[in-house]
Amino acid sequence: MRTMTPLAACPRAAWRPLRGVLTDIDDTLTGESGIARAGLDALHRLHDAGIPVIAITGRPAGWSEPFALAWPVRGIVAENGGVLLHREEAGEGSALRVEFAQDDATRAANFARLQACAREIVATVPGALLARDSAGRLTDIAVDHSEFTTLDGAAIAAVCDLMRTHGLTATVSSIHVNGWIGEHSKWSAAHWAVKRLTGADFDPREWVYVGDSTNDQLMFERVPLSVGVANIARFLPMLDHPPAYVTQAERGDGFAEMARALLAAKSG
Ligand SMILES: [Mg+2]
Repeated sequence: MRTMTPLAACPRAAWRPLRGVLTDIDDTLTGESGIARAGLDALHRLHDAGIPVIAITGRPAGWSEPFALAWPVRGIVAENGGVLLHREEAGEGSALRVEFAQDDATRAANFARLQACAREIVATVPGALLARDSAGRLTDIAVDHSEFTTLDGAAIAAVCDLMRTHGLTATVSSIHVNGWIGEHSKWSAAHWAVKRLTGADFDPREWVYVGDSTNDQLMFERVPLSVGVANIARFLPMLDHPPAYVTQAERGDGFAEMARALLAAKSG
């Protein structure tokens, strides 16, 4: 297991091979009142410097749509790798393009199985409620544990167990337990989105990954320059693979700290 080093101790040379930024959204860029000013400013500075940012989130496609249009990011992969949303220049303005990791027939069959699993969770795990953003979910289900309600560790484990019994992949974000059918993940999402949006194959040595929670740990494990924002402290006991570095500041302010280090290394 790696121990986390303060981001300030990351050598400048480590940033220079980087081509872009992959980032989680909830509690990494955003907090309870949406995206932090510092986080949005950092996205603009990275965009102005020509550094692509791709967000990878467990949030639904429907929830991600307005941000994929409004934020200066290349795209957002929603539903833990299930759906890619990105802007496409069309006529006068830009239109949103939505692509799926799975074909229509596979998604239709999976959708029915996912809803059956969701019904069983709500009926059998005391206190379990579907996430309020469930209407916008096209390829997964989500159970709220910390957004509008609180589930304890035993209940979260029971939700994960039921999802796995139904053949779902289950991960726990800072707010939800997400379940989906298929091999996709934030890791496969990185390969898909980088190739689709930049034209180049994804090389984990060329991207920094920023996150805050247990559903980021596949990326923390496989991306050498991985960064946790300070609020990751809450999840540290549950992480087998913590990020290489941790910021001093939380959430969007922590993301901005990462962006400053990257931009300083690129310009110096
Ligand atoms: Mg998060």
